[in-house]
Amino acid sequence: MKTIRVNVEKEYSVNVGRGLLDEIGPLVREASGASKAAVISDATVFALYGDRVIASLADAGFTVCSFAFPAGEQSKNFQTLESVLNFLAKSGLQRGDVIIALGGGVVGDLAGFAASVYMRGIDYVQVPTTLLAMVDSSVGGKTAVDLEKGKNLAGAFWQPISVICDLDALETLPSEVFAEGLGEVIKTDAIAGLGFSEVLAGGNIETRLEEIITACIEYKSKIVSEDELDKKGIRNVLNAGHTIGHCIEKASGYSIPHGKAVANGLLIEAAMAVKLRLCKESLLETLQAEVTACGLLMSAENESSASDGDFVAASLVVDPDRWIEIMTHDKKNAGDEISFILPMDFGNYVERKLSRVEVRELLGRFGK
Ligand code: NAD
Ligand code: MG
Repeated sequence: MKTIRVNVEKEYSVNVGRGLLDEIGPLVREASGASKAAVISDATVFALYGDRVIASLADAGFTVCSFAFPAGEQSKNFQTLESVLNFLAKSGLQRGDVIIALGGGVVGDLAGFAASVYMRGIDYVQVPTTLLAMVDSSVGGKTAVDLEKGKNLAGAFWQPISVICDLDALETLPSEVFAEGLGEVIKTDAIAGLGFSEVLAGGNIETRLEEIITACIEYKSKIVSEDELDKKGIRNVLNAGHTIGHCIEKASGYSIPHGKAVANGLLIEAAMAVKLRLCKESLLETLQAEVTACGLLMSAENESSASDGDFVAASLVVDPDRWIEIMTHDKKNAGDEISFILPMDFGNYVERKLSRVEVRELLGRFGK
C-alpha cells in the first residue's frame, strides 16, 4: 500500500493498493473516532462491494447503516441529496460520525456534498471505485450536485478525512468507463510530464496501472495542496483539455462522456497551440496516439469535411459557432476572454486568454 499526503488545512491521506476494501474498517478507524458509519453508494457499486465494506467497518467497531441510489449522473441532484440527508437523520448520525462514499465520481460528489451540509458538516471518507474517481474526483474536496442549468452548479469545498483506493475494484469496471478515466490520465501525464506517454500510446496500461494511478494522485494532491479553495489560479492547470472538452460534452447533450470529451478537447487545444507556435507538433502526434490507443478518439462522421491534413481527427468534431456560444456561457470565462491551458511539451504548458475572435479563427482552420 502506498500513502500520499494531501497538505490542505486539515491534512489527509490517500491510500492506494490492492485488497483495501477489506481493510476499510481499520483504515477509517485510523482517521475517525466515530461510532456510526453511513455507507453511501450507488446501486451498482453497492451490489458489488457493499457487503465487504460493511463487514470490514463492523469488524472495526462501527455501527453501520447504508443507502444506495440509482447509478448514473441523473442521480446527482437535489432530490437524491435530500433523500441521503433524510436517511442520515433517520439513522441518527451525529456530528462526530462518518460517511463512507463508496463509488465513482457521482457518489463521491453527492455524498461529499451531503457530508458538507449535514449538521453543518461531518466527516467523510472517499472510497473511489472508478479510474476517474481515483485519479481525479476523490482528491481535492470539490463536492457538488447538478442543476437544470448545468453540471456541478451547487456544491461546496469539503475535504475528505481519508481516501482509500482499492485497485482491485477496477476489475469489475466496464471497459468504456475505465477508458473514460484514461482521458484524465492522459491530461495529467501531459501537463505534469509524468513520463507515461509510451505506455499510454502502447495501449498496455494494465502492467503499470498502480504506478500511473499513484503518480496522477500525487500530482493532483500537490496542486490541491497549493490552492485548496481554487482561489489562486493554481488549480486551473487541471482544466487542460476541459475548455474544449466542455464544449464537446455539452454540444452532444452529454451523450459523449466527460473523459472522452476531455481527451479530444486536449487534442484540439494542442492543435490550437501548434497553430499558435506554442506547442511542438510531436506532442500533438503523441497525444493523438495515446487517445487512439485508449479507445477515446472521436470517430469521423464525414472524412471529407477535414480541411487540415495534419490534424484530421480533431477537424472532424469541431463545431466553432456552437462551441464559442458554449464557452461564452462557461462559468470559468469572463467577458470576451476565454481561458485555455495550452500544452507546449510534456510537463510544460501555458495559460492563455484568447478573445472569441481569436478562438473562432483558430478553430475555423480545422472547422467544418
Ligand atoms: P460514475 O460515478 O457515474 O460511475 C460510472 C459508472 O460506473 C456508474 O454506472 C457506476 O455505477 C459504475 N461503477 C463505478 N464503480 C464501479 C466498479 N468498480 N465496477 C463496476 N461498475 C462501477 O462516474 P465517474 O466517471 O466515476 O464520475 C463522474 C462524475 O465525477 C461526474 O459527475 C463529474 O462531475 C464528477 N467529477 C468530479 C470531480 C471533482 O473534483 N469533484 C472531478 C471530476 C469529475
Ligand atoms: Mg475533468
